[in-house]
Amino acid sequence: MREALPLSIDPRRLAELKREFVGTLTLARLPRLAQVVLAPTDTAAGYVGYKLAFHRDASHRDLVHGEVSATLGLRCERCNEMLQLPVVSEFALAVVHGLDEAAQLPEGYEPLLPEEATLDPATLVEDELLLAIPAVPRHAAGTCRAPQYVSADARAGAEPDAAPVDDNPFAVLQALKRQH
Ligand SMILES: [Zn+2]
Repeated sequence: MREALPLSIDPRRLAELKREFVGTLTLARLPRLAQVVLAPTDTAAGYVGYKLAFHRDASHRDLVHGEVSATLGLRCERCNEMLQLPVVSEFALAVVHGLDEAAQLPEGYEPLLPEEATLDPATLVEDELLLAIPAVPRHAAGTCRAPQYVSADARAGAEPDAAPVDDNPFAVLQALKRQH
């Protein structure tokens, strides 16, 4: 069953209720991610798929198992063009009440220490995607090059201005002279 992701949740309460959310989010709901990625060029890049499953284990730990999938538009640091980075990632969080508890979590669980009793569940999805972004995004080695157009651009910019203004009136005068 699908239900819309609430704006605010109490993860402990949802774990007790064993709630699960599956759906898609737009970048509008993920403002920190939206600041890092480029405007999406296709529909797939504009949406983030997610699954968040809350449950409580036998030792009364409140857990969140999450999945995210998205295609993120990033700026390639080599060629400066758009790089479409597919991200598919899973994560497991355990709600903790303090750092001592965080240190004792079973392997594979990251601590979730909410500052308040409730949180925006979209931030869990957003955090995971932000972690998936490489420090230096680049196309695969050998598939792109650093741009070489800087000097060529400067020349191309100078010529169109200089050529018609200086040469053409003179050429027209020359042509008129020859007619007489
Ligand atoms: Zn590139």
